[in-house]
Amino acid sequence: MTSPRAMVERIKQLQKEKDILILAHNYVRPEIQDIADYVGDSLGLSRQAALSDHPLILFCAVHFMAETAEILTRADQTVLIPDRRAGCSLADMITAPALRDWKAKHPDALVVAYVNTSADVKAESDICCTSANAAQIVSSLPHDREILFLPDMFLGAWVEEVTGRKMEIWPGECHVHATLPPDRIKSLMVEHTKAEFLIHPECGCSTQCLYLDSVGELPSSPIVASTGGMVRHVKESDGTKFIVATETGILHPLKKSAPHKVFIPASEEMVCQFMKMVTLPKVLKVLEAGAPVVSVPEPTRSKARAAIDRMLAVTV
Ligand code: SF4
Repeated sequence: MTSPRAMVERIKQLQKEKDILILAHNYVRPEIQDIADYVGDSLGLSRQAALSDHPLILFCAVHFMAETAEILTRADQTVLIPDRRAGCSLADMITAPALRDWKAKHPDALVVAYVNTSADVKAESDICCTSANAAQIVSSLPHDREILFLPDMFLGAWVEEVTGRKMEIWPGECHVHATLPPDRIKSLMVEHTKAEFLIHPECGCSTQCLYLDSVGELPSSPIVASTGGMVRHVKESDGTKFIVATETGILHPLKKSAPHKVFIPASEEMVCQFMKMVTLPKVLKVLEAGAPVVSVPEPTRSKARAAIDRMLAVTV
């Protein structure tokens, strides 16, 4: 059996030979984050892919994220994924046919899709959003239009709360957040009064915390930040203890950036098994084989791209 160290060496060799950019999501295994050129959230990774000149991009994350990267890259670039079966319980909550049925019942509505959706669903949507820009996106839409918001009910409820816009919300959720009951969040905040409470907004597993804060259910407001923002914050803050309410993979970059500080996962069980499907042997295999390739067919690609571009036009 090849040792992890030998695998990493071979991966680095292949990466150099084939000029491959390796991107990794914050929630993948630490050893995968450590071999990546860039670690970040889903949209940040897609932007890195779009800005790069590399002919091959290895996207270490779940499938819908690799699809988004493929949609944003040029035709002469190829996106590879270590395991195409790495899905997302939130993205799987709605399919394109189900969305078409929903739209048929609301023919004048605009559809806002969280980026945690398949390319097929994005293609049926008017505009995409992330949790960081969802309120801004919804506020930018004409006030006389009904809005269908999907697929995350907690993000939808939070957007309603902060914008005052009433929407039709798809009843979807990420299974990872279900391991974090609201009482647990409150009791942790009471138990660790001096700890700062951090939320990473870019995955459905933390949208519940955003909602609880917006309705005044938390003892104090959490610090909502991207990975880069969190890393900066924990380095610069005088605080020494942080409660982290999102998938536990994010603890790796935080511990690396501030090794002497204490990070308490809001729940040890907040583990996304889809993200953990990305392993070193699979990374090595995909680099050797140049497959599996992520490919979004036309016209889905162009339609999904239009929904993403409308989001970027509002937020840039
Ligand atoms: S943490 Fe939840 S929303 Fe994020 S990829 Fe996993 S299942 Fe999907």
